[in-house]
Amino acid sequence: MEAKGGEPSNRIRKHQSDESSSESEEEGSEQDEESDEEEESDESESEQEGSANGDGSISITLTDPQVLDCSICFQALTIPAYQCENGHAVCSTCCQKILSKCPTCASRAGYSRCRMIEKVLESVQVLCQNTKYGCQKAFSYSMKQKHENSCPFVPCSCPIAECNFKASSKQLHRHFTTEHNKSAKHFRYDRLASVTLGVDENILILQEETDGSLLILNNRVETLGNVVTLSRIGPSTERSFLFQLTAKDEGDRRSSLRLQSLVKSRPKRVDSAASSGFLLVPRQFSCTSRQLEFDLRFPGYH
Ligand SMILES: [Zn+2]
Ligand SMILES: [Zn+2]
Ligand SMILES: [Zn+2]
Ligand SMILES: [Zn+2]
Repeated sequence: MEAKGGEPSNRIRKHQSDESSSESEEEGSEQDEESDEEEESDESESEQEGSANGDGSISITLTDPQVLDCSICFQALTIPAYQCENGHAVCSTCCQKILSKCPTCASRAGYSRCRMIEKVLESVQVLCQNTKYGCQKAFSYSMKQKHENSCPFVPCSCPIAECNFKASSKQLHRHFTTEHNKSAKHFRYDRLASVTLGVDENILILQEETDGSLLILNNRVETLGNVVTLSRIGPSTERSFLFQLTAKDEGDRRSSLRLQSLVKSRPKRVDSAASSGFLLVPRQFSCTSRQLEFDLRFPGYH
């Protein structure tokens, strides 16, 4: 990779200034570069294949990705990065916590800015770990965690217990529609839905007709009655929205209980989740029919 009279430094500089370039720009510069390279000898052209990309950047493989992580908290290093006198790199958060002594080598000489690793962090582009689920994003290494914590392509699991399918939420919606269409009750956010669930059934899957989202109504039998929660399958950073779940008393039609809460998303179905709001449906609401009856509304969509 060290190659060719003056070329490498050009290439690296170019990459840094091109950090945010779009794919089409990269394609454009690929053509320019190719015509340049034709003027070089055959030998140099073949050596560059596989190491230098057409846009002037160089593809590298980190055999140990942790080399760019903080030696204390093991999170991706961010700028500013610091090092002890023996070169143990730490993030700024850890550096502030351990003012006196490097935990790796016990040096007491203190920490200084590590400009070298900062340059590397700025220029190294990594792909999102959810590439195989459809995320196209590439970013500097220090942005990796920030992006992946909120990546919309985080893999979500099919709520059907026997199915191992896992994909981005959009792909999961399509999978569910083609594979398990009959396993869900269909509803629409902008309409009132009547939902019925057996007292002993612990789950009802609901699929929205327009965008395919999957909601899970969980039910657990407790001493006083049934504990019911509603959640959505999706990246946990997805926007929460209001729902109203009204349990109806089958015997006395004038009695009902309503929970208004936020639908939160999780990438997989969690059966015992009562962390957000739950509705406790008293036993007498369902004592003869052994069915729980609900009205489900989404006030933000009406
Ligand atoms: Zn750290
Ligand atoms: Zn050290
Ligand atoms: Zn991503
Ligand atoms: Zn499935």
